[in-house]
Amino acid sequence: MTSSKEPFGIYIHVPFCLSKCPYCDFYSERDQKLVPNYVEAVKTELRTLERCKGFVSPDIYEREVTSIYFGGGTPSLLAPSHIGSVIKCVKESFPVSTDAEITLECNPSVKEKDAFFLGIRQAGVNRVSLGLQSAVLSERRALGRLGSPEDAKNAVLAAKSAGIDDISLDIMLGIPGQTEETLKESLDFALSLPVTHLSVYILKLEEGTLFYKRRETLSLPDDDQTADMYLFMCSYLKEKGMRHYEISNFCFGDNIGRHNMSYWRCSEYLGVGPAAHSFVNSKRFYSERDLRGFLNGQKCVYDGPGGTEEERLMLALRTDEGAAAPDTNAAFKKRAAEFAAMGLVNCKNGRAVLTEKGFLLSNYVISELLSVM
Ligand code: SF4
Repeated sequence: MTSSKEPFGIYIHVPFCLSKCPYCDFYSERDQKLVPNYVEAVKTELRTLERCKGFVSPDIYEREVTSIYFGGGTPSLLAPSHIGSVIKCVKESFPVSTDAEITLECNPSVKEKDAFFLGIRQAGVNRVSLGLQSAVLSERRALGRLGSPEDAKNAVLAAKSAGIDDISLDIMLGIPGQTEETLKESLDFALSLPVTHLSVYILKLEEGTLFYKRRETLSLPDDDQTADMYLFMCSYLKEKGMRHYEISNFCFGDNIGRHNMSYWRCSEYLGVGPAAHSFVNSKRFYSERDLRGFLNGQKCVYDGPGGTEEERLMLALRTDEGAAAPDTNAAFKKRAAEFAAMGLVNCKNGRAVLTEKGFLLSNYVISELLSVM
């Protein structure tokens, strides 16, 4: 088994939501009776790594953890004491760097906001990611979002006054009925708050969701309108001083999401919880989307090798760091130069970096560049 001394990140998938949003295909369950059992199972897995035996070499316990990320689902449905006990368990099991980024995804409607954010801050969380999606009521209704934009505002302010300075908001692009004006309204709302980071995702119709079933009836912006909104957003956020460091991610200063950036740098991570994916010891594996299976010790499933040159290039091209053009690959350089002439790629200092138009067409540009590798 490949051994490694490289630092890595830990992802905890929290598979609970109050209700299912019609566009979402992340794995979650509504019944929260099993939360205490789930928290205990996560801690047992962190201590023993039983579910991923055969994929992870025992020296993982000597590797430094540089980030912990609670994603979901809705991690803010866990009590601060639960979150604290998981963080404590990570720290007892692995060496955790003193400046580790510890992120929790939160629903802005979380109850007793002041006590909650103070509790998670005391538990060690130093970054929160909140789902605003839209500040426009009709768009929120179209997305089936509970709560109001005021909830998001109050959550940001409560997190900030609890001492959590690194705050990200999620915004959605391509919502039924959305226009450039309403998108600007949501961006302005977000920028009026003390946030350090924005993630802006283009709505995708995922098979199995309610939106996918009703796709004929949704008045979605067409591809050209979505593209125009994306390009507008890129230049607007740049004008406001944000760095566009990944296709969907923007930050002020150096407040990149370090955990997610490590994915795009092809660094390793251990995922714990149902539906969590891992990349450790050059192997990819995942837990099934099955809470009860996870509680019963169901083993992880092998998903193939990770960290190939193609994969590194594909991930790096999602970021503003871009990818080093392979010196020996004349075909790659030629194709990159063609994309540069089309305004889709910048070639500088031996690196190929996608432009904003290139980000918009990233699937096409990246697969074309990979095809000549
Ligand atoms: S969007 Fe968030 S809150 Fe809604 S179902 Fe998906 S994970 Fe749960």
